[in-house]
Amino acid sequence: MEFSWSVADQKFREELHDVIVDAIPEHWANLIPGEEATSSFTMDFSRMLASKGLLTPHWPVEYGGRDASGWQFIILGEELWSAGEPRGSQYMNVNWVGPAIMHAGTDEQKAYHLKRISDGDVLWCQGFSELGAGTDLASIQTTAVRDGDHYVINGEKVWTSYAQGAEFCFLLARTDPSAERGSGVSIFLVPTATPGFTIVPFESDLDIHEFNRMTFDNVRVPASTMLGEENNGWKVIKRALSHERIGGPRYERALAVTRRMADTAKKRGWWERDGLRTRFVAAEAACEAARVLVYQAIDAREKGLQENLVVSLARVAIVRSERLVADLALDLFEDESLYRFSTGNGQFKTSMIAGLGGGSVEVQLNTIARALLGPGR
Ligand SMILES: Cc1cc2nc3c(=O)[nH]c(=O)nc-3n(C[C@H](O)[C@H](O)[C@H](O)COP(=O)(O)OP(=O)(O)OC[C@H]3O[C@@H](n4cnc5c(N)ncnc54)[C@H](O)[C@@H]3O)c2cc1C
Repeated sequence: MEFSWSVADQKFREELHDVIVDAIPEHWANLIPGEEATSSFTMDFSRMLASKGLLTPHWPVEYGGRDASGWQFIILGEELWSAGEPRGSQYMNVNWVGPAIMHAGTDEQKAYHLKRISDGDVLWCQGFSELGAGTDLASIQTTAVRDGDHYVINGEKVWTSYAQGAEFCFLLARTDPSAERGSGVSIFLVPTATPGFTIVPFESDLDIHEFNRMTFDNVRVPASTMLGEENNGWKVIKRALSHERIGGPRYERALAVTRRMADTAKKRGWWERDGLRTRFVAAEAACEAARVLVYQAIDAREKGLQENLVVSLARVAIVRSERLVADLALDLFEDESLYRFSTGNGQFKTSMIAGLGGGSVEVQLNTIARALLGPGR
């Protein structure tokens, strides 16, 4: 096994690092990813990265990439997450929206959408969850009924992040209501400006994140907006979710927070407290364990091997590392963490988000148990 980086990957990290130092204001390092998800800064930053070929380097040249190895995808994520994720919501485009279109799109869809994404020019949102269909995604009730060359969409989605600024929605809808739960579902790439498509933002209890409710009232979209085959969207979604689960290298940001907390503990004379250094070592080790599992998943992806189990393991490890760092922050800073912009407050909230957004961590544990123990054991 070869653990060292290639020269090209090392150069890429250095190039990216220099760009980050030049372009990102210092306060970004303390922001929680998602706090400034769709601002003009994140748009300008993504366009600037794209103009330097740094937004989608691992994509084929024909789709606006540099044909670089898939490892540059994770290097990109690590460097940007530890800097506060200045791509804003566009990390999703690079992580799973673009790859899903690359995998299942028509030539027309690829030419249009992949260019917009690799130019850093477009915001997307993910229209999956509904009331009663979060974990149990196969229960979605939103329908799309064929009418000539169009589909007519009716229904409601909730907890949609970033929809308030999005131009397109990656939407799941039921096209065959009589089919068994998972089947009969199709994907549509829907412009949010389509008549009958309403987006209403609402605040989450975790005040760093804004959600949206999206309603579809006879929304007519051309049949050409369907991604992949009718009634067979599940295949594409499974692949997209696997990309989504490890696409945010939260461990890298958690590690940066841990190091900043260690500096503070030393400055405040807390470093010699009984057991404190052991807690720091455990937190760092959890972040590094998550990193290794993510690397294992990328390695499998690069080699075209089955990645599902290791993706689930990596996702659980990512969430655990975020939570361990949050526990440490809360114990270290005690009531200071009640203040909204404090380290403990931010880390606690981001660790809550980590375990739910993109699918709950408990369900990943079920998946791991089933894969390792077999059904019914
Ligand atoms: C920050 C954030 C951003 C989000 N952004 C989006 C978005 O952009 N688009 C979108 O479509 N959705 C989004 N979601 C919704 C998210 O996908 C759902 O919250 C998630 O899938 C869980 O669904 P639920 O909220 O309905 O919880 P439920 O499914 O009701 O689950 C509640 C609890 O029960 C547990 N549970 C449920 N079933 C099982 C089981 N079989 N075994 C063990 N435990 C179980 C879960 O782990 C969870 O802890 C977001 C959520 C968050 C928190």
